[in-house]
Formats: sequence, C-alpha cells, structure tokens
Amino acid sequence: MPELPEVETVARGLRDLAIHKKIVKVSILESKQWRPASRQWRAGIIGASISGIRRRAKWLIIDLSSDWSMIVHLKMTGQIIFQAKNKPTFLGGHTMGKSQEEFPNSHTRVWFGLASGDALFFQDMRKFGYIDALPTAQVEDYFLTKKLGPEPMEPAFTLKYFQSVLKRRANTTIKAVLLDQSALAGLGNIYADDACWLAKVKPTRRVKTLSMNEQAALRKAARQVLLEAIKLGGTSFSDYYHVDGKTGQYWAKRKTYGRTGEQCRRCDGIIVKTKTAGRGTHYCPKCQR
Ligand SMILES: [Zn+2]
Repeated sequence: MPELPEVETVARGLRDLAIHKKIVKVSILESKQWRPASRQWRAGIIGASISGIRRRAKWLIIDLSSDWSMIVHLKMTGQIIFQAKNKPTFLGGHTMGKSQEEFPNSHTRVWFGLASGDALFFQDMRKFGYIDALPTAQVEDYFLTKKLGPEPMEPAFTLKYFQSVLKRRANTTIKAVLLDQSALAGLGNIYADDACWLAKVKPTRRVKTLSMNEQAALRKAARQVLLEAIKLGGTSFSDYYHVDGKTGQYWAKRKTYGRTGEQCRRCDGIIVKTKTAGRGTHYCPKCQR
C-alpha cells in the first residue's frame, strides 16, 4: 500500500504534468469508486482546469479552477496514470504488469479526458480506492472528519504535542502510537519500524518506558524517515512506480523493514521480526533499546 512518501511522490510528478490542463470528459466505469458530493458534480468538473495538486496524509487532492476538488485514495492497488498525447504513459502507484499497457482497460475505474489530448486514468484492480468530488470549500471539513493528527514534517508536530500524545497512550506500544493516524498522520508500517531504528528504541516497548531523550529522538526520527523517503521518491515494491515511470529508491536504503535475518546497518546485530499492534515489526535487538 502506498504510504505518505509514495503519495507525495505521485503528487509531485502529477503537478509537473497536469497543472492547467482542462478536463473535457469524465468517464465513470465503476460508480462505487466515484463519490461526488452532489448530483450536480458535472458543472464542477467538466470544463474546469486543474489548478493545484496537494496531498494530505495518504490522500491526493486535485484542485480545480471551478472551486471543486477531487480527493483520491489509492488504498491497496490504486494507481494514477497520466497518459500524455503521443508520449509514453506515466504511472504512479501500482502497475498491473505489462499486459495492461493500453488505457482505458479492465482495471480502469474512472478516467478524465483533457483538452490537450492527454488523459488521466484512475486504475484499481481490487476496487478499494476511491475518488471523492466536492466543493474545495468543504475539503477542510472533509479532513476534520478523518481525525488526522499532524504530519511529522509539519510545524504542529512539536515535542510538546508529541509528548502529550505519548502521555495519553502510556500503556500501549511505541509501534501502535506511531501507526495511530489520529496521533500523527502519515507513518505506515515500513516507516514506523525505521523511525524506531533511527531513534534506537524497540518498537515493542511500552510508551511509558520512554525517557525524555528517547521521546525527543523518536519525534525527530519520525520526521527524518519521511523526509529521507520523500527525497528518494518513496519505496518501490515490485509493483509501484512513480508518475514519471521511475522507481522509488528508499527500499534499497531501508533500515529494518523486510530485512529479517540481515545484519543491522549500524552494528553487528541481526534484524528480527515480531508482531506488534497486529503488524509485522522489525528491529535490531542489539542497538535498539
Ligand atoms: Zn543494530
């Protein structure tokens, strides 16, 4: 599943390609994945130009000149494809293999024809993803209902804030807090484990055992791991590509996730895997305390 750095990478790639392009056609092939706020949505979408591409946590927000916005969640297998006229196709999210190079195809759920002759496709094999369309003025309230905490890169993610979160969840595990999107938004399984490695704490520990120094280190690590992953274009699994078709480089640099049995990048310890907060959890038993 794409996490924050992967969605940020898609947003950046799409920004370069799709800004100022005018939507002239919307084709809905799977109605349950197209969720407009009103039946009059056509007036807000068709004829409007793409004026901005934003991201909030793992949602991609496409703002339109009509003061409408489309909010995309890729979920498990979603992808955004920008097909430039007379140019190779660009991919963001999960590709479905070489058999699916023609668009639209059997995995296309919604697509947008652009006045430039380009097209934007929302692909989703497993159909868990969606596009919500609503007036831009409602976007803020939309995210309020999601009850998301601040993202680790945001100024609101202060040490004081993080400590208040930790205090409220003293008896849970560190891993569970890092994954709790209402505490901080944007850390998924890979980056939560790697943040603990950076902070030299075991993700399996109870929150109340963290010293003040460890709390500060963990806050810094949450920010650092996301910034590093964004810089590297996110993590590419076998089926994830950028909007520009390149792969994310974080996978090669990951600290713990998917490295069970391999040597720690900091000491001669061996990375182990356990289950914490219902998720596979990786750490070095030697240098993480
Ligand atoms: Zn180690």
